[in-house]
Amino acid sequence: MRTEIALKGLQDTVVRCHKCARLVAYLKEVSNHKPRRYRDWDYWSKPLPSFGDPDARVLIVGLAPAAQGGNRTGRMFTGDRSGEWLFNALYQFGFANHPNSLRADDDFKLDDCYITATIRCAPPKNKPLPEEIENCRPYFLKELDLLRKVEVIVPLGQIALAQTLKSLRQKGFDIPSLSFGHGKVYSLRTRNPVENADLRSLRTLITTYHPSQQNTQTGKLTRPMFHQVFKMVRRKLKR
Ligand code: SF4
Repeated sequence: MRTEIALKGLQDTVVRCHKCARLVAYLKEVSNHKPRRYRDWDYWSKPLPSFGDPDARVLIVGLAPAAQGGNRTGRMFTGDRSGEWLFNALYQFGFANHPNSLRADDDFKLDDCYITATIRCAPPKNKPLPEEIENCRPYFLKELDLLRKVEVIVPLGQIALAQTLKSLRQKGFDIPSLSFGHGKVYSLRTRNPVENADLRSLRTLITTYHPSQQNTQTGKLTRPMFHQVFKMVRRKLKR
């Protein structure tokens, strides 16, 4: 319960964050210029909180909210095409109660899984600036402190992988430079297991291509390839 309360406090802080002026302005612009298909939506257009099971053993790290997806609905990956792929895979492997979620007020729930992102505000053209990533990093580092049961971490795509590795190094993990690819499994080790006691259960990182339309529509990432990653995640969990 303490973890749940601390995570809730952290996410409440995230939602009020204004550190990145460019992104705050962009979110306002997005909600002022809605596409016709979403003109009846009252856009969230604020930083998106992470969500999931506070006792999760699996942590998914996305890149950034989609301007017309999570940024519209108010929950990460909810109502966008990447989310449709991600939620479907999580459902197939027992980490979610539904194969998709289109609105934040439905009863969709993650089980044993938590979803966060490299940055929490939708950036123009899906391209965050380096300083925006740094502004947002403390929230991810704090989540790593709080999610003490995480055993497997899955960054979605190359940028999320690079930034996750940078954060893990800052947390005392001994990580050589890892090459990006799909479905690679890496073991994680902390330099000082006593100092990093909170992160002792985190042992494995699994890479995947991001389920973006750029990848899914070109066939670079297929459903079987994506599901294979979650099959590997299941196998890595101790029970
Ligand atoms: S991207 Fe992160 S640091 Fe920047 S305004 Fe949004 S929540 Fe704050």
